[in-house]
Amino acid sequence: MTGLFAPRSIEELLSLLAGSGEHEKHFIAGGTDWLIKNRGNISEDAVLFDLSKIPELRGIENRGSYLRLGSMETMTSIHTDPEIRLHAAALCDAASSMGSVQIRNRATVGGNLANASPAADTPGALAALNASAVIFSPSGTKELSIEEVLGTCPNKNTLSDSDIIMEFRIPVRKSHVSAFKKIGSRSEVSIARINLAVSAKYEDGAFCDAMVFVGTLGTAAKRSPEAENALLMPISLRKEGFKKALCEFAGRMIPSRSTLPYKQSAIQALAEDVLEMLEARGRSLEKSGEKSHG
Ligand SMILES: Cc1cc2nc3c(=O)[nH]c(=O)nc-3n(C[C@H](O)[C@H](O)[C@H](O)COP(=O)(O)OP(=O)(O)OC[C@H]3O[C@@H](n4cnc5c(N)ncnc54)[C@H](O)[C@@H]3O)c2cc1C
Repeated sequence: MTGLFAPRSIEELLSLLAGSGEHEKHFIAGGTDWLIKNRGNISEDAVLFDLSKIPELRGIENRGSYLRLGSMETMTSIHTDPEIRLHAAALCDAASSMGSVQIRNRATVGGNLANASPAADTPGALAALNASAVIFSPSGTKELSIEEVLGTCPNKNTLSDSDIIMEFRIPVRKSHVSAFKKIGSRSEVSIARINLAVSAKYEDGAFCDAMVFVGTLGTAAKRSPEAENALLMPISLRKEGFKKALCEFAGRMIPSRSTLPYKQSAIQALAEDVLEMLEARGRSLEKSGEKSHG
């Protein structure tokens, strides 16, 4: 069995996968990464699966304790969705800052994670929001953290060639705020030189329960425990503590890279901006009587 298939359900995809045996397999979502990587490089007996016709991979839905986000949702559908805006602001920030309008209309959130580029924007936001990925394959279903999917090798995820990212589950957490920002080489169509995603619980001006992820320090979405602790500091020390912790974290992650001084200076600027975004979102959350979270 070789060629291109466009299954119309997960069931059909799983049965095609089971029948494709040892053949080289490729999933194509929006194609924005896949085409660039694979043009002219596909073996003749490869099996290609177009994921665009599978309804189970679509949809954004509030299920009470979590948001269900289909892996085939595009950056445009994500950043324009009111539930994402309300409960997962960091993901909304990340999706709206990706590429150009044309790229955002095609690029999917599943493809962005599966591609595992160190500079990818949405994996860090999903990880900071404590999201999980639900994976389907002919051998069963599993739920993994974003860090487990990314693993430790740049540009290579930990999934097998028959594993499909079906959906993401993003916890809906009371009194939590989140934010994402990146610095690229220009303002549009720019891959991140460094990106920062944070979520935390906000109460009376103080943060707790923080999750901080930094992208482009060797691999995508690296968690920084020192920056999470710094966010818990008294308000008078918080900003400088957060900047210093992120600067030290970059030094620990990429100690001998020539880009380290640039990244250390950039991460401090990002830290200030993201902290301001979190504080503003926390204040507006309290003002609105906790109608919104995330
Ligand atoms: C001009 C340009 C600008 C860009 N700017 C940015 C940017 O600012 N930030 C950023 O993060 N990225 C950027 N990208 C990269 C790219 O658009 C994203 O990584 C995109 O989200 C990939 O999604 P896709 O649907 O196009 O995936 P595809 O290209 O279709 O697939 C990518 C990989 O993921 C696998 N895959 C896709 N879906 C699944 C699934 N459901 N389950 C398992 N495996 C799957 C594919 O097999 C393939 O290996 C840019 C790309 C271009 C060309």
